[in-house]
Amino acid sequence: MKPPKILCHPDSEKSCGACCGMYNRRDNSHAATLERLSRRTRAFFDEARVDDEQSLRAFRAKWEETRAEEKLLSGLPNCPFLGLLGLQERPDDPPESFKVGCLVHPLQNDGLDGRDCGVYDRETCDDYLCATHNLLGAREKLLVLQAVSDSYLYGLVITDVRFVWELFALAADENGMDPPARCLQRPEAIEAAADYFELKRDWPYADDDGIFGQVQPGEGLETSRRKGPSAELGVEPDRYEAVLTCLGTSVDSQEALLEARSLVRARVEAFARAVDL
Ligand code: SF4
Ligand code: SF4
Repeated sequence: MKPPKILCHPDSEKSCGACCGMYNRRDNSHAATLERLSRRTRAFFDEARVDDEQSLRAFRAKWEETRAEEKLLSGLPNCPFLGLLGLQERPDDPPESFKVGCLVHPLQNDGLDGRDCGVYDRETCDDYLCATHNLLGAREKLLVLQAVSDSYLYGLVITDVRFVWELFALAADENGMDPPARCLQRPEAIEAAADYFELKRDWPYADDDGIFGQVQPGEGLETSRRKGPSAELGVEPDRYEAVLTCLGTSVDSQEALLEARSLVRARVEAFARAVDL
């Protein structure tokens, strides 16, 4: 089995909207993000049409999130045309059951393309591929694809290369060997990986801007590398420090740090057991 070359829409269950600005909000919880996408998608079908450029420009003017205090990276655009695909056909289904995607993409609109009215232009939207595509190996991509089934979590995991690498590296440390490809196909391995990836959804120790993981947003488009929680507290890091940093962890006591480490350790060890020979 091979992963798809392009990871943005890998299957019929999930997709990623990270580079369209999906998580670039202070209120970026699962519930708040899906509620926002759902509201905006409904408004899109009430207020705009892809064959009416004026309506697209008016929609953008009304719905684009531009207020710096509401965003994490104020210089990164949040495109108002990112929405829930298929919501119009299934208006009563829960928002987590939809893929996220571009409402003005030609594939959604019988060939009509409204992306020039978005925050980039159609060429940029077409051409951009994030670093994950090159950095993750086939086994790592496949595991994420098999273990994550909804768009909110998928975008968070697939764009955090280090978080995925760490799972493999820590399991290799535990078992004294890289997880063999055939062991990664076991249902219990996929389930254990799913439990680890789930840490990203609502990590209780995440800082306010922790959704960006190792990257800490600053002014405009400025970013810096997040200090790990051990460095913040001035204590020795352990082997889970990189994972904790990917989770955007910030703690104010050693007790909280130990608790955070033990939550990660339990998930990593379960995965290591599941992929052991
Ligand atoms: S962040 Fe990467 S995987 Fe996600 S939509 Fe953009 S290019 Fe695709
Ligand atoms: S117009 Fe471009 S940036 Fe906006 S939602 Fe579509 S693909 Fe994303």
